[in-house]
Amino acid sequence: MPFKDIKSLSREELRQFLSDNGHKPYRADQIRVWLFCQMKQTYEGLNIPAELCELLETNFRIKSLNEETKMESQDGTIKWLYKTADGLPVETVMIPTETRASVCVSTQSGCAMNCAFCRTARMGLNRSLESGEILEQIINVHRYFLENAQERKVTNVVFMGMGEPLMNLDAVHRACVCLHDQKTFSMGKGRLTISTSGVAPKISELLERGTPCQLAVSLVAADNETRESLMPINKTWNLTELLNAVDSYLAQSGEWVTLEYILIKDKTCTEAAAQNLIRIVKPRRCKVNAIVLNNNENPELQAPSEQEINEFLEIVRAKAVQINIRNSRGCDIYAACGQLAEALNGRML
Ligand code: SAH
Repeated sequence: MPFKDIKSLSREELRQFLSDNGHKPYRADQIRVWLFCQMKQTYEGLNIPAELCELLETNFRIKSLNEETKMESQDGTIKWLYKTADGLPVETVMIPTETRASVCVSTQSGCAMNCAFCRTARMGLNRSLESGEILEQIINVHRYFLENAQERKVTNVVFMGMGEPLMNLDAVHRACVCLHDQKTFSMGKGRLTISTSGVAPKISELLERGTPCQLAVSLVAADNETRESLMPINKTWNLTELLNAVDSYLAQSGEWVTLEYILIKDKTCTEAAAQNLIRIVKPRRCKVNAIVLNNNENPELQAPSEQEINEFLEIVRAKAVQINIRNSRGCDIYAACGQLAEALNGRML
């Protein structure tokens, strides 16, 4: 692409760019407030010298995503499909509750991880997004609330849309820093969650970089054989390697880690699976978010029955392991976990 989005620059980079071009570096904060807080998509009305405006326009994009469709679920969840400047699909989901509004952002267009249960995998990977493209997804939800006279604000951001965040760590880190920045979004790190399919060596990098975020790991299954059959990444970093990375993260950060577990009939919702899960979670400062498999077009993978789910939960809870069942939101518009895949929407709906 010819230019990058101005929102992809850190404050320091923008200051540097301004001073390199003979402008006052303090303008960086003024421009950032305009973009991130005022949510503007042109420089019209911004009180900066005309030649600075021209300099910015010739060097950077100010708007990266074009809205293609917006779908609203019966439960209030909204999913937007955007196209990037180079025409690639990106989806964003907003999940409202009484008190919160979580935004699930995509970090890549498509995904390369090829998990058997996820529709995004069918798209393959187009490319990683810039941090400006990630941030624009959140800004757009803020603007949507504002334009629709809703009192709501985005309270939480989860990096759980299309893509593998730790395969695009630089941009994801930049986005988190900007979201955490008191001069822009001022979101506490507890409100930002990065979810990884298990890119073990990158987990320590989050701490080395000091990325302001919480960590969630898509455990999905609790033994290597099952996990490998569902997630090719387990061939590269198996459970031992992944859990070692989680353990050093736990030790160094002092935080809790969320393990995401998918309940799949006969595979991850059996008594043996429950015992394996207990063995993994019990000794660690982890809680489990379990989610019943969402419709994903793979005929070999089915959701368990209610009874199977309850029996599984009972076994796990009997050992005092923290396990919450997350209700899927937005299933009717294919906005739930593992359902984001623009290219397939026509066929699915
Ligand atoms: N690549 C990252 C983030 C995107 S997936 C990751 O793997 O964590 C976000 C979450 O949705 C993951 O926990 C994933 O395991 C889950 N998921 C994917 N497909 C699903 C499906 N069909 N049903 C339920 N959860 C699914």
